[in-house]
Amino acid sequence: MNAPSGAATRRASPGSVRRDFQPWNDPAAKPLVEFRNVTKRFGKVTAVDALSLSIHAREFFALLGPSGCGKTTLMRMLAGFEQPDEGEILLDGVDITTVPPHQRPVNMMFQSYALFPHLSVGDNIAYGLKREGLPKAQLRERVDAMLKRVRLNGFEGRRPDQLSGGQRQRVALARALVKQPKLLLLDEPLGALDKKLREATQYELMDLQADLGLTFMVVTHDQDEAMTMADRMAVMDHGRLLQIAPPDLIYEAPANRFVAEFVGDINLIEGRVTAVEGDLVTLANEHAGTIELDEDAPAYKPGDALAVGLRPEKIVLSHEEPPQAVNKVAGEIWDIGYLGDMTMIQVMVGGDEGKLLKVSLTNRTRRIERPFAWEDRVWLSWDVEAGMVLAS
Ligand code: ATP
Repeated sequence: MNAPSGAATRRASPGSVRRDFQPWNDPAAKPLVEFRNVTKRFGKVTAVDALSLSIHAREFFALLGPSGCGKTTLMRMLAGFEQPDEGEILLDGVDITTVPPHQRPVNMMFQSYALFPHLSVGDNIAYGLKREGLPKAQLRERVDAMLKRVRLNGFEGRRPDQLSGGQRQRVALARALVKQPKLLLLDEPLGALDKKLREATQYELMDLQADLGLTFMVVTHDQDEAMTMADRMAVMDHGRLLQIAPPDLIYEAPANRFVAEFVGDINLIEGRVTAVEGDLVTLANEHAGTIELDEDAPAYKPGDALAVGLRPEKIVLSHEEPPQAVNKVAGEIWDIGYLGDMTMIQVMVGGDEGKLLKVSLTNRTRRIERPFAWEDRVWLSWDVEAGMVLAS
């Protein structure tokens, strides 16, 4: 938050950019948090199902998944608000499964912020430190420093209802951070903010986390948010983790169909393998034609049924037939969605009863007359490395 907007500061940015920070690939690294085979049931619902997960110190970890998949339950168990039915939770190698919430070096920032409405901003932030019995002078110092950190100095006398949504979000963050937790859990931290403020705050959160050397675990519905902020993200469904990886791997090499469809847009093309030669797998689809894929050590044989995923931005759209022999198909434009920075075009391939494929185009010029229009006959083509085989 100390970086003025537009300043060319070198950001300790998470995601695939932090090449030197990959403790999960180091077998000797000791994780800060470990879930070991943790199960949590509510009556007949298994909210978290025999789940194991490690999170490392200074990691920005994001948990992503559809509503009801168990994200909040997982986080609440880490904070101590829920008890697992089975398994253990370790923090710094110590089993904390039965340690009550207030004795854990973990803080949680709730979706609703849960600020005390009758207390001033300053008192809201100071609340936890007062309960700890911190001497007044030290308390003042810590609260003042935190107010400055979240750019709320001058606001300490106001009540939460005299603040904007973004300011309330900062108070909640300051209140969680002032206790200097080893681990901060954030449940939809930016959910109440509008799009612009949300984006700006994402970068502020990343800066804050890097500057203070904290470990963050964020639960979010918003995949763009998770991809922007996280070193690693986990995609969860029905109480299980389907994939844990840096955002670029989740997007470019999803573990299965669910992950591929959940994160980003994707065209799914099913077909049968017609040939395998070295790393080259050839597949036939009745509508999309012959597809060639470059697969590392493919474990398929002719006749196998496969699902191939093709992201819309990996497809090239043209009016003329491309010269390549495979990985191309003709079609008709059925729909065009103009989104400002990009345009999403739906093309029906393989006849009127064929298959709709999505193609995205970056709008690189300000030309209002666009090169493609509804009902245009077009060609779609893609590279041999564009498609990926998806396990079901
Ligand atoms: P959302 O994204 O909608 O917040 P989530 O992924 O955080 O969802 P959880 O809140 O963890 O999901 O809920 C997982 C499952 O457990 C859901 O089926 C939910 O209905 C159930 N559940 C959660 N808390 C309780 C509870 N206290 N009593 C009964 N069932 C619960």
